[in-house]
Amino acid sequence: MTNDLRIPGPTPCPDGVLESMANPMINHRGPEFAELIERVTENAKLVLNTKKDIFFFTSSGTGSLEAAVVNTLSPGDKVLSLITGFFGERFAKIAELYGAEVERIEFPLGKGADPDAIRNRLNADPAFKAVLVTHNDTSTGIANHLPEIAKVVKQEFGLLLLVDAISSAACLPIYTDTWNCDVVATASQKGFMSPPGISLMTFSEQAWESYHKSTMPKFYFDVKQALNFLEKGQTPWTPCLSVLFALDTAVTQILAEGVEEVFRRHERLGEQTRSGVLELGLELFPDARYASNAITAVNVPGNIDGESLVETLRVEHNMIIGGGQGSLKGKIIRIGHMGYCFEEDIDRCLKALSVAIDAS
Ligand SMILES: *Cc1c(COP(=O)(O)O)cnc(C)c1O
Repeated sequence: MTNDLRIPGPTPCPDGVLESMANPMINHRGPEFAELIERVTENAKLVLNTKKDIFFFTSSGTGSLEAAVVNTLSPGDKVLSLITGFFGERFAKIAELYGAEVERIEFPLGKGADPDAIRNRLNADPAFKAVLVTHNDTSTGIANHLPEIAKVVKQEFGLLLLVDAISSAACLPIYTDTWNCDVVATASQKGFMSPPGISLMTFSEQAWESYHKSTMPKFYFDVKQALNFLEKGQTPWTPCLSVLFALDTAVTQILAEGVEEVFRRHERLGEQTRSGVLELGLELFPDARYASNAITAVNVPGNIDGESLVETLRVEHNMIIGGGQGSLKGKIIRIGHMGYCFEEDIDRCLKALSVAIDAS
């Protein structure tokens, strides 16, 4: 029995991507690997709209968040962390754990970060070095208005901008260089429609300047090591080859569809999901201005328990969706439409949701 996997990651993988995982192992210090890593690196740059460095790590997405922090910051550095949900808190915690002085600015759940509030906070203290932002906060179904945030952080203050793009890359438009993002951190198992196991991040010149001053401890995720080895067509440590094979196929498929077309498809999926949910008489959780085109969060009607609705969908319809996290547990459901997802997948999901709601 196959399931419809409509959680916000891991996401379904195309057959060809899964088949790539069955390729035999190669020498990760040999010429085939050099070709592979070079191709995946160049192709991933096209997806993230960057000409800057890109590095791959064997880890889930959180590894790339840790890499973003330890390679650019030093203990005592003052960091502004934009909290728009669960994942912003994770990013903040990593920085804090490594000794950064983290100031949080919390926005109401369901809303994005307000650029004016960011400006005010940054104006209040010239010591800020960096701003941490979650592009797409998967926990609340919002997409932050990254270009507006970047404008304040980069153009007005020239600070480092570190972006958690784990659930937005290859779904929502990201123009890493045009928007001046210093680090865009993401992973294989969401928009990149590959299995979990590889994370990646972009690294700007300003990020490199910060690297040279950075005193946070780093070993596995040290970008200088990654750069030295990449110049030889290698990674410092044995990479998860099977997932890299998969990612290679997936990125090729994304480029064949066209990066802009992938963004447009997600826009259509977002609109389809939102209007379908409203037609069922349900309400969206987030403020419409920030509703994400990668995931839709929906308020569960007061007379229904969200956790049992998720369970009914799984048991009766083989439809696997996300529930609410933390204070939103039981109160919202979340429908992922990131990566390998098309109109008919959302039709099926909405139909199952309609039946499950009627039966509740
Ligand atoms: C999925 C997700 C993560 C998850 O990280 P993993 O380490 O890959 O589990 C982090 N941030 C955001 C915004 C996410 O959506």
